[in-house]
Amino acid sequence: MRQKCKLVLILLFSFLFVSSSLFTQQSQTTPVKLKKISDRLYEILGGRGANGGVYIGDDCVLVIDAKMTKESVEQTIEEIKKITDKPIKYLVNTHSDGDHISGNKFFPKTVTFVAHENCRKECFHPQRNGKPSEWSNPELAPFIPSLTYRDKMNIYLGSKKVELWYFGVGHTTGDTVLYFPEEKTAFLGDQIFIGRPQLIHSFKGGNSFEHVKTLTKMLKTLDAEKFCSGHAEPIDRSTVKHHIEEMKKIQGKVKSLVEEGMSMEEVKNAFPENHAGLVTAIFNEIKK
Ligand SMILES: [Zn+2]
Repeated sequence: MRQKCKLVLILLFSFLFVSSSLFTQQSQTTPVKLKKISDRLYEILGGRGANGGVYIGDDCVLVIDAKMTKESVEQTIEEIKKITDKPIKYLVNTHSDGDHISGNKFFPKTVTFVAHENCRKECFHPQRNGKPSEWSNPELAPFIPSLTYRDKMNIYLGSKKVELWYFGVGHTTGDTVLYFPEEKTAFLGDQIFIGRPQLIHSFKGGNSFEHVKTLTKMLKTLDAEKFCSGHAEPIDRSTVKHHIEEMKKIQGKVKSLVEEGMSMEEVKNAFPENHAGLVTAIFNEIKK
């Protein structure tokens, strides 16, 4: 009996040890660091939240996306100070997801927050669980994008131009592409996922079929050669084209299964498990 008790205790402690070390692994994040693209343009990697970017103009700095926590924003600002003493004047949010915008509130109030008109609207959209958006708190008003545009906007940092483009609905309804012509580099936010199925926020009005059109339009319009995004390594034009073709294939397969009369569950079962979210979105779009 005693032996059994001992064994149970040993098992219990090893379970606690393994689960607590797993927990620390999950809650640990790598520190924020900047990765150089050119003398003026950098990717912001690490920390809590999505990858972003920073552009140093003649007289000021523009940041792309905000991370999520005070610590990550402070690290971001520290890293920027290491490469320039120019002030951060603009922060462009590529869209309204928390991992790109929650950190806005930890930047100085002097920063102008910029986004597409629909991104600002989505800030007030209830969360997926129906709870009110964190941005409905009036104290956070200064950190909601206040400078918005509809189709295209240029921001001049002295003689340097940053282009903000809207190509249509996709991941959400308000995704901005930032284009840096001298670097031939575009920042897409979450308009491309690599190595995992594309996320389409149907609850915010995102749409997979529009996503395909939007990305196609972007490729046609911009002569970009490098595409940086929130959750992947930078990619080239051929990888964007490949992503579009893969999306079309998945949509085609869902469509033919729906035409065969399959239910949502049956259609989902015809795909790998991690495709459930995307397949659900496509299924609902076809049924609409
Ligand atoms: Zn994201």
